[in-house]
Amino acid sequence: MKITLYVNKKSRNALLDLVLIKLNHLDKKGRAHIMEIELEKAYPRCPPSISADVPYTFNLEWSVNSRLKHVVQQFQEHLEKLQEFWCTLDNIDKSLWVVYPKEPSRATAFREINLGNDCFIMLSINVNDPRSLPECRFMGSDPIVNSLRKKWRRNSKRWVKDKSLIENLASALETSLPGPPDGHKNEQQVECGICYAQFLPIDEELGAKSGSGTDYTCENTSCSRAFHSVCLRDWLRSITTTRQSFNVLFGNCPYCSDPVAVKISDTRK
Ligand SMILES: [Zn+2]
Ligand SMILES: [Zn+2]
Repeated sequence: MKITLYVNKKSRNALLDLVLIKLNHLDKKGRAHIMEIELEKAYPRCPPSISADVPYTFNLEWSVNSRLKHVVQQFQEHLEKLQEFWCTLDNIDKSLWVVYPKEPSRATAFREINLGNDCFIMLSINVNDPRSLPECRFMGSDPIVNSLRKKWRRNSKRWVKDKSLIENLASALETSLPGPPDGHKNEQQVECGICYAQFLPIDEELGAKSGSGTDYTCENTSCSRAFHSVCLRDWLRSITTTRQSFNVLFGNCPYCSDPVAVKISDTRK
């Protein structure tokens, strides 16, 4: 379990007596989850406000004796409950031809999947029971879609939870499901794995990097996660095990923990 707390000093909110804390937690499967905690002036009398990339947030239990570690605890417990949900979606993204969303967030519970023959299925995965029969909608040419609907209606009664969703889906549709097309994986990874944005904000302080896209990719081919080197550098700096040699930071990828190295640019202090 890896938890990193870092206070975003650059946040303009700091001027308004607000402190913004970003917490990055790696779950058992190495998925990174970021939670933002905002502490207002009245903290700890008032609970902090929290936001995270999850399908639904938890109700924070807060008393006069509560502290940040209780927030972290509750966040972890919440992530724990969602493991099966994310495993199911990760499997779909890895094994099927997902056409939408191209870069799903951890909060997204639906996937539009290409079934071949210009037919598509939109699946809404049940967050609390991801192996159960999902809600679905078919799209495509009428004759094929009609026959798929018929099969679905007939076979969905035989949907069993001890099989994976993909196995169930294939038997319900009586077909083999096409995998992702080549090159699909790289296309998908254009959003930064740390700030979740494609482009950095336009900010003078970022110098030449202002508004730029991701410029660093994890070399582990089964990860290949893309980052802004600026974000990766800030992330590495916030971790105590990071080593620096000359102007290079050496640490680990926040997703797969493989070694990463990033140059400290001279444009920023
Ligand atoms: Zn970034
Ligand atoms: Zn990686």
